[in-house]
Amino acid sequence: MPNDPVPELLMRAAELLEKQFATLPPASPAFGSAADPAAMERVLEDVALRLGDNYPYFHPLYAGQMLKPPHPVARAAYALAMKINPNNHARDGGRASSVMEIEAVREIAGVFGWTKFLGHLTSSGTMANLEALWVAGQLSPGKRVVASEQAHYTHQRISAVLKLNFSSVATDLRGRISLDALEDELHKGDVGTVVVTLGTTAIGAVDPLDEILAMRERYGFRVHVDGAYGGYFRLISEALDEPAKQAFNAIDQADSIVVDPHKHGLQPYGCGCILFRDPSVGRFYKHDSPYTYFTSKQLHLGEISLECSRAGASAVALWATQQLLPLAPEGEFAQGLALGRSAALMLDHKLKENKTERFQPLAAGAPELDIVVWKVRAATSDQSSKLAQRIFTACAERDLHLALVQLPLRWFQPAAGGNGANGRELVTCLRSVLMKPEHEAWLGEIWQRLAASCEEIMAKQRKD
Ligand SMILES: *Cc1c(COP(=O)(O)O)cnc(C)c1O
Repeated sequence: MPNDPVPELLMRAAELLEKQFATLPPASPAFGSAADPAAMERVLEDVALRLGDNYPYFHPLYAGQMLKPPHPVARAAYALAMKINPNNHARDGGRASSVMEIEAVREIAGVFGWTKFLGHLTSSGTMANLEALWVAGQLSPGKRVVASEQAHYTHQRISAVLKLNFSSVATDLRGRISLDALEDELHKGDVGTVVVTLGTTAIGAVDPLDEILAMRERYGFRVHVDGAYGGYFRLISEALDEPAKQAFNAIDQADSIVVDPHKHGLQPYGCGCILFRDPSVGRFYKHDSPYTYFTSKQLHLGEISLECSRAGASAVALWATQQLLPLAPEGEFAQGLALGRSAALMLDHKLKENKTERFQPLAAGAPELDIVVWKVRAATSDQSSKLAQRIFTACAERDLHLALVQLPLRWFQPAAGGNGANGRELVTCLRSVLMKPEHEAWLGEIWQRLAASCEEIMAKQRKD
């Protein structure tokens, strides 16, 4: 991390912050300035050594899971907020940061075309989805929640926690919810909520939201959009392929939306967001806490959130990031998303033109967002899975970090009747989440290391 601007920026901003409390009589906190700096330094050395035991998530050669570094301004703003450590449960606990949360969330809602809504930050996408399904369950008690087999695994678990019946629905060869299978469920008459994933975790598949909304007209159900990963792609929907573009452009018609600023929004972990189109669902959150609401008459975020204490620093970091990089379709932030997507298309192209024909991309088309998955060609799916494992390890030895994912074999065999084509057989595939803007410039290097690793494994295999 050369030339990190954060320490310098932080020092000057911290002085400005401290000045605003300068009229207070000096007081050294018991644990703080009185502590022994040398002892702290030794502990921090240990911490640094411990933290070295990590994949280099911040580097463009880390192209595996959904991990990217927070923007420097987010890191700096978060660290600055630590001087105060505000709690956005109530205005008493975080006056400034509550207002920043309200402003930042309003900007996110604006991405989806909403001006009148109810929303707030959460500690994660899981908590945000929990709130969405909790409200959905209150609105249609006894009804089922359905989501695709590729929806995030937590929807099933959340439904169990909320004691809502849950069913998963098959997907098509592209990992999108199958409309036929969905309609079969809707015919049964007891579906209260359909979870529509815009950007699945495994492969970035985009469920056909526009067509599901048309079904809502006929069957009547609640539509919850899980855009924890993909939500921000609404900013560049015009650059997506037709089905994904139609899906994203219909997002304003959803009943609730989840998006994770800590995934694609350049934030430190601990930052999800839930939005409801109908602000009146706020009534479900009503509670009387005797502790918190004494000194302000304004709405507390704690009155519209299931969680009590929440990091005000998350709101501060998000607000700062959106000040620097506004959520505008033509802005730098949106361009960053577009760069990751173009890296994914480049990789897909290389996989397809790969002369050795070692790799097999998804049969049914190009990546919908910025996640690429591919299978290794082999006589059996078992051999293919083993080769994927070995290539994954060989890449890591070359400092290229990819991920592995289990996918249905039939996604790679569109002609029905092939081995496992209709079955539930899974194959281990290689997966790359190209979510950093720098991935575009590094794609050549990434490809070289992948190709070399693959050749090495194939050569070893010939020798065995
Ligand atoms: C990551 C993810 C989640 C879960 O969000 P967390 O912030 O990890 O709790 C839910 N849905 C989708 C589609 C995701 O990609």
